[in-house]
Amino acid sequence: MAKQIDVDYVGRKPLFLGILNGSFIFAADLYKHITIPSTISFIKLVSYKGTSSTGTVITAIGLEEDLLDRDIIIIEDIVDTGRTMNAFLPTLEKLQPHSIKICTLLHKPDALQCNLQLDYVGFEIPDKFVVGYGLDYDGYGRNSKDIYQIEE
Ligand code: 5GP
Repeated sequence: MAKQIDVDYVGRKPLFLGILNGSFIFAADLYKHITIPSTISFIKLVSYKGTSSTGTVITAIGLEEDLLDRDIIIIEDIVDTGRTMNAFLPTLEKLQPHSIKICTLLHKPDALQCNLQLDYVGFEIPDKFVVGYGLDYDGYGRNSKDIYQIEE
């Protein structure tokens, strides 16, 4: 993925936006392999109920960068239903970046409920709950080096 991003963003100085908490290990590993000039920052997403027309609104905590005209690459641990990203993208678009792409380590195609374009996908997995490598189960398990499926 890093090699592909290097090629796709040559000369563009992208800003990587890691979504906390889940992506912290993947973001670190990915970013170590990026060789083009770029910056990285981390944000936490918080959801709240908007008006009936806006539905669920997701805001970002820790977003201090000026995104105007920047090429943004969101780093996610996992895209499941896609609702989080789908609700967050309009908030990000209001800050007028030049482009937004999504890079996710894991994706559950059978669970996706939104029309969301995922630009870089590490692995497609079945619709099962997984832990490890940054992903948690009730806050635990993020430190596992490998990824496991929770036994039902
Ligand atoms: P979505 O909005 O795409 O349904 O889910 C977004 C968030 O739900 C992910 O960023 C992640 O925090 C959490 N999530 C979804 N599936 C899993 C899973 O299998 N394991 C863990 N640990 N978290 C998950």
